Amino acid sequence: MRRITIFGATGSIGQNTLDLIGRDPDAYQVVALTGDQNIAQLARDAIAFNAELAVTADPARLGDLQAALDGTGIEAAAGPSALIEAASRPADWIMSCIVGSAGLAPGLRALEQGTSLALANKESMVCAGPLMLATAKAHGAAILPVDSEHSAVFQALIGEDMSAVERVIITASGGAFRDWPIEDLAKATPEQAATHPNWAMGQRITIDSASMFNKALELIETREFFQIEPSKIEAVVHPELMIHALVGFKDGALMAHVGPADMRHAIGFALHYPDRKSLPVERLDLVKLGKLTFRPADETRWPALRLAREVMATGGLAGACFNAAKERALDGFIAKRIGFQQIAVVVEEVLSRVSAHPGHIDAAITLDNVIDLDHLARVRADEIMNELEG
Ligand code: NAD
Ligand code: MG
Repeated sequence: MRRITIFGATGSIGQNTLDLIGRDPDAYQVVALTGDQNIAQLARDAIAFNAELAVTADPARLGDLQAALDGTGIEAAAGPSALIEAASRPADWIMSCIVGSAGLAPGLRALEQGTSLALANKESMVCAGPLMLATAKAHGAAILPVDSEHSAVFQALIGEDMSAVERVIITASGGAFRDWPIEDLAKATPEQAATHPNWAMGQRITIDSASMFNKALELIETREFFQIEPSKIEAVVHPELMIHALVGFKDGALMAHVGPADMRHAIGFALHYPDRKSLPVERLDLVKLGKLTFRPADETRWPALRLAREVMATGGLAGACFNAAKERALDGFIAKRIGFQQIAVVVEEVLSRVSAHPGHIDAAITLDNVIDLDHLARVRADEIMNELEG
């Protein structure tokens, strides 16, 4: 039996992971499942999968979790230190699918244990890519990408020499507002932004798809994960979202990964790697599909893409600053403190104010420095949002 832990089990990726594991229950022992506010779901899954431990990220919800697990023999724990403790428990495979920079510390701890890490939490790579790679290397742990584009690139690169790679193209749906006139974006609401044309995902990544901050994070994730020069990485809008990414080689060949939008493909690939096993995903009917279309990823419509280029050019902890500013600005948009187009305004201004002082973005890429900068960027984002409101 393979020992499995899922960080962020109650979310969209976590539930898809449990769906796959539940299809072959004799093959897996669930060590720990973690969640945050959805205690009922966390307890239900911990019981259904006979987990050893359930953890909520929120210490104030420990009593609720204990009550929900009363009499089951499943351990209950809460708070950031409990997440780290869960990551320290021996496992063969850990899924990192917490949303946001909160996923970084547990993922790093899992790598320190030498555990294979399936990484949906792109923020880990954006905030601390070099630290993630160095930790994995030092402890002989594999990091398997779960973001669909990065899983696609990873698969296209199997058996290839990186020196033969000329470019990497990741696709974007364009999100909820891809067909809106730019003039209308100012009045876009969080409810409208949270409706994705292709994928069913968590609320935050769905809004990030509409603003293209998701793709901006993914450009940086591509750079960090595969160590590819930023000038070789492109994004293209592909409304059908059947091609997830393409790798171009120096002989002109372009290898595409094609398939219906179902995260269980990328999750299942990471679960069974290096083997390929049958997965319950729809098989593509090319004739029914008919045609695939592409449009430019316009940096005027989606300034997040331009900011991602700046972040990659700056390097260091710019990714951590960018991500935290985006997370806080997204909170502000969801709370209707700022408008849709102001998300990028806030992020750009945070980057500019934090960069103005040496010792932050150019600090060493350590977990402590990422946490400090993450905090600073959120404080700056709040200041800027207050100024915009006032
Ligand atoms: P989600 O919002 O559905 O779930 C997030 C999970 O994280 C939940 O279990 C929640 O309880 C937990 N969580 C939230 N805040 C937390 C905190 N502060 N501390 C600890 N746990 C916390 O999100 P999702 O759509 O499943 O996405 C998860 C991650 O996977 C994100 O990094 C996202 O970018 C990435 N991803 C998601 C998809 C997708 O299809 N949903 C695709 C590619 C990548
Ligand atoms: Mg993706």
